[in-house]
Amino acid sequence: MYCPMDCNVKMENRNRKIVIAIDGFSSCGKSTFAKAIAARLGYIFIDTGAMYRAVTLYALDHGAIRSGVVDEDAVRALLGQIDITFRFNPGRGASDIYVNGDLAEGRIRTIEVSNCVSGVSSIREVREKLVAMQQRMGRDRGVVMDGRDIGTVVFPDAELKIFMTADPEVRADRRYAELRGKGMDVTREEVLANVIARDEADMHRAISPLRQADDAVVLDNSHMSVDEQMAWFMERYEQACRK
Ligand code: C5P
Repeated sequence: MYCPMDCNVKMENRNRKIVIAIDGFSSCGKSTFAKAIAARLGYIFIDTGAMYRAVTLYALDHGAIRSGVVDEDAVRALLGQIDITFRFNPGRGASDIYVNGDLAEGRIRTIEVSNCVSGVSSIREVREKLVAMQQRMGRDRGVVMDGRDIGTVVFPDAELKIFMTADPEVRADRRYAELRGKGMDVTREEVLANVIARDEADMHRAISPLRQADDAVVLDNSHMSVDEQMAWFMERYEQACRK
C-alpha cells in the first residue's frame, strides 16, 4: 500500500487530517520546519510569506514601489491583475510560487523584496485577497501553513498552533548564511537590520498584527537542532490528534 506519511506516525493518527498553524518572527526557520512536518505527515505545505513577497515583487516590477516607498493606492490598483499559483517542485520537496504564470521563487527572496514586504502586507485589501486564498487552500485540512496570522486570523480553529521565536542574532546569522549560499550580495548588518525592522512592522501594524494566539505553544529554536525540533513537534502533534 502506498503510504506518503512517515511510518513513525501513529496508525490511529494517519487518517485524521488537521490544520497546523505556524506563526512567528522573521527568519526563525518557520518554512523549513513546516516543510519537514508536511513531508513527515504527508500534508500540504503553504508558505504564506511567499504570497506577500510575490505581491511585493509584482508591485516593484510595476512601479508601485519606488525608492523603497510603497504607493498603497497603486498596489491596490494592481491587485486585480495579480494571479498567484503554486506548483509542486519535487527537487525542492515544496511548491514553487508563480505570479501570472511566471516562476517567482528566486526573485521573491531578495533583500529588496524583504525590505518592502511589510509595507505591502499592511494594506487591508492585500490581506483580504491573500487570506481568502489561504482559507480556500486549507479548506480540506491536512495542511501546514506558516506565516504571521495563521493561528489568529486565517485558521483560528487550527487544531495545533505553534508560535516560533529565536534570538534575533541567531536568526540574522541563519538568514545571512542562506542568502550568501544562494549567491546574493548582502551584508550581515543589512540582514540583521531587516529582521529587526520586519518584526517591529509586523507586530505593530493595524491589521492582523503578529501576535501569539492564546492557545498557541511556543517553540524557541535558538539552540535546537532540526531533529530536536521534530521530536518536540511530534509530541505536540500526538497530543493535538488525541483532542
Ligand atoms: O515568512 P516571510 O518572512 O517570508 O514573510 C515575509 C513578510 O510577509 C513578513 O515580514 C510579513 O510582513 C508578511 N506576512 C504577513 N502575514 C503572513 C505571512 C507573511 O503579513 N501570514
